[in-house]
Amino acid sequence: MIEKEPERLRHLRLKRREDRRIRAGHLWVFSNEIDTESTPLRLFEPGDPVSIRAADGRFLASGYVNPNSLICARVLSRDESHPPDRSLLVHRLKIALSLREKLYRYPCYRLVFGEADLLPGLVVDRHNDVLVVQLTTAGMERMKDDVLAALLKVVKPTAVLWKNDTGVRKLEGLDEYVEAAHGEVPDTVEIREGNARFDIPLIGGQKTGWYYDQTLNRARLKPYVKDARVLDVYSYSGAFGIQCMKHGAATATCVDSSAPALEFVTSNALKNRVRVDTIKGNANEVMRDLRHERTEFDVVVLDPPAFVRKKRDLKAGREAYRQTIQNGMQLLGRDGFLLACSCSSHMPQSELVQLVQHAARHTGRHAQLLEVGGQAPDHPVHPAIPETSYLKSLLCRVTRQQ
Ligand code: SAH
Repeated sequence: MIEKEPERLRHLRLKRREDRRIRAGHLWVFSNEIDTESTPLRLFEPGDPVSIRAADGRFLASGYVNPNSLICARVLSRDESHPPDRSLLVHRLKIALSLREKLYRYPCYRLVFGEADLLPGLVVDRHNDVLVVQLTTAGMERMKDDVLAALLKVVKPTAVLWKNDTGVRKLEGLDEYVEAAHGEVPDTVEIREGNARFDIPLIGGQKTGWYYDQTLNRARLKPYVKDARVLDVYSYSGAFGIQCMKHGAATATCVDSSAPALEFVTSNALKNRVRVDTIKGNANEVMRDLRHERTEFDVVVLDPPAFVRKKRDLKAGREAYRQTIQNGMQLLGRDGFLLACSCSSHMPQSELVQLVQHAARHTGRHAQLLEVGGQAPDHPVHPAIPETSYLKSLLCRVTRQQ
C-alpha cells in the first residue's frame, strides 16, 4: 500500500527551471532534471511514491519514481491532499468511465488510456464484463492491488486479466506475465462493434485483445464499400473486413501473417453470417502475388503494426510504409479507395500524405485525400504529451489519371 499522508512522501527535487514543463501540464520527469545532490535517485526503489518538488522546495505534484528509467518519475496528482492511493484511482476511473459511457452504446472500449486519463502506466480495455489490464511502469505495478480494488469497485467486472506481456515493461525493469487477477477469465469474450459481433482472444490475443483505436475508421468506410471487393491487409481478427461485409461489400479478403488471427477472422465471419477469405503471409509478398495474378480490389485497407517504434527508426520505417502503400495502391482498379493507417507516434501525418502522393505518381495514378482520421475518443490525446497521439488514417480515392 502507498502511504496516505502526503507529508510522508519522500521528496524528489528538480533542478532550477526544470519545473516549467510539469507546471505546463506534462506528466513526465526526466532523470537529467533531478537535483541529484539533494535527492539522489539511487536512494529510490523502482515504483516508490514521491512528492515532486521545485528547486525551491515547493510542491509540484505527487507520483512515482523509477531511478532506472529515462523517464524517472510520472505525475499522478497535482493536489497535495490527494496523493497516489486507492481513492485517487477510484476518482480517476470514475472520470474515465463517464467519458466512455457517454460515447459508446456497448461497454466495449478502452476504459483507461494511460497519461491521457491522468493514469500514467495504466491501460485498461473493457470487453463487456471482462477487463484486460496492462501495467506498464514500476509505479503502477507497485499499486497493483489498489488498481484491482479500484476497478472492482468502479466497474464491477466478472473477470480481470493482467495482460502484462508488453515489451515496454522491460524499460522499467519489469518481467512479463499474463495471469488472472479476478474471477474466471474465459479464453474468448464476445464484443460488439457497429452492427457486428466478434469473439476475441484474451490470454492468447495480441495486445489487449482488440484494437478499439480503429473503431471510427472502420465505421468511416461504410459509404465506400457497397458492392466493393475489399482487401483488408494486416487484418488481425478481421475487424475491418467483416464490418465491410456487413456494410454491403461484395467480397472481403483478410491478409495477416498470424495464423491464430486468421482463425478468428474465419470464426467471426461465420458468427456474422458473412463470407471472408483469408490469406496467411507477409503482407508485401501477398500483395505482390495478388498483383501478378492481376487481382483487383475496389477498397484496400492497410493497417500495419508500428513501423517506427523509435525516432531513430524513422527512415527505415518510412520506407516500410512507402512499400506497403505502393503495393496496396497497385491493387486498386481504375477507381478505388485506399485507407492508409499508421500507428507510429513518430510518423507525422504530413509524411504519410507525402507517401500517398509519391505512390500515386509512381504508379501513374491520381490520389484525392477525402478523410483524415485518428484514434477513437476512448484513446484521448493529452495535449502536452505528443506521444499520446499516435494513430493516423488517410482515406483516399485513387483513380488512374496522369
Ligand atoms: N487491422 C487490425 C489491427 C492490425 S494490427 C484491426 O483493425 O483489428 C497489425 C497486424 O499486422 C497484426 O495482426 C499482425 O499479426 C500483422 N502483421 C505484422 N507484420 C505483418 C506482416 N509483415 N505481414 C502481414 N501481417 C503482419
